[in-house]
Amino acid sequence: MSHGRGAARARGPLAAGERVLLVDRKDRRYLVRLVAGSSFQSHAGVVEHDAIIGADDGSEHVARQRDGRTGPGRRFLVLRPTLSDLVLKMPRGAQVIYPKDLGAILMAGDIFPGARVLEAGVGSGALSMTLLGAGADLVGYEIRPDFATRAKANVEDALGAGTGYRVEERDVYDGIDETDLDRVVLDLPEPWRVVGHAADALAPGGILLSYLPTINQTAELRSRLDHGGFGLAETFEVLRRTWHVEGRSVRPDHRMVAHTGFVTTARRISARWHEEQEAVPSEAGLAG
Ligand code: SAH
Repeated sequence: MSHGRGAARARGPLAAGERVLLVDRKDRRYLVRLVAGSSFQSHAGVVEHDAIIGADDGSEHVARQRDGRTGPGRRFLVLRPTLSDLVLKMPRGAQVIYPKDLGAILMAGDIFPGARVLEAGVGSGALSMTLLGAGADLVGYEIRPDFATRAKANVEDALGAGTGYRVEERDVYDGIDETDLDRVVLDLPEPWRVVGHAADALAPGGILLSYLPTINQTAELRSRLDHGGFGLAETFEVLRRTWHVEGRSVRPDHRMVAHTGFVTTARRISARWHEEQEAVPSEAGLAG
């Protein structure tokens, strides 16, 4: 591993080869890669890529009507996608972690530039691109070759080729080869089977973080952590309620995502911490 390089992001006018988000007046969103001479077609009309290439991020474009009809076409905004946009729009095999949880994971896992991080399994790469975006020096273990390939492609699409991201096709339940890790980040069904390996692979004080869909799994992980050289364990979930804000109608949106997953973190600590408390000789006893 080398020092985290972070991930370069494009700035300035929109360029050929970049992906952009086209947003219509009804907030329908389309992710499109800009190719000179190409065009974007939807029910709302046709937008030439050449009109977008060289335009500003956030610029407005009017679609030309198809089948020779006249009149003003529909309008689109064209924007560089955010990491959230990419996570929600990218091709996925496995279920991705949602942006609300990805943000919380960065803080709970204390991910920093140059942090040596092992992630398993990598699935579609949503968490990988988030960790890399925060500057992690990342290795992923993924048991399914098709997911490993998909994750690498998604990460390269989102962040370019220079992130140093490496994915190994292997079962993390069999062990971890990396040593002196700062963080181990898990999104798989039986993380308790990784606790022993993670205890060996983490540097003292390192953090294990696990994302799980059910509280039964979380309870099983928590009891294993207490007996495996970890301490300061915490579990939380993130409830995100968006609001409708329009004129005098200001209220919570009617719908929200009620449940995604539980995040659990723990620090690698002295194995003696959870042992039975020894009798501490009292000062009176020592004096006597
Ligand atoms: N966090 C990912 C989604 C992970 S889905 C994202 O945000 O996109 C869970 C992944 O763990 C799947 O791809 C599955 O193949 C992988 N997996 C399950 N058990 C595993 C194991 N023992 N070792 C490595 N990968 C495993």
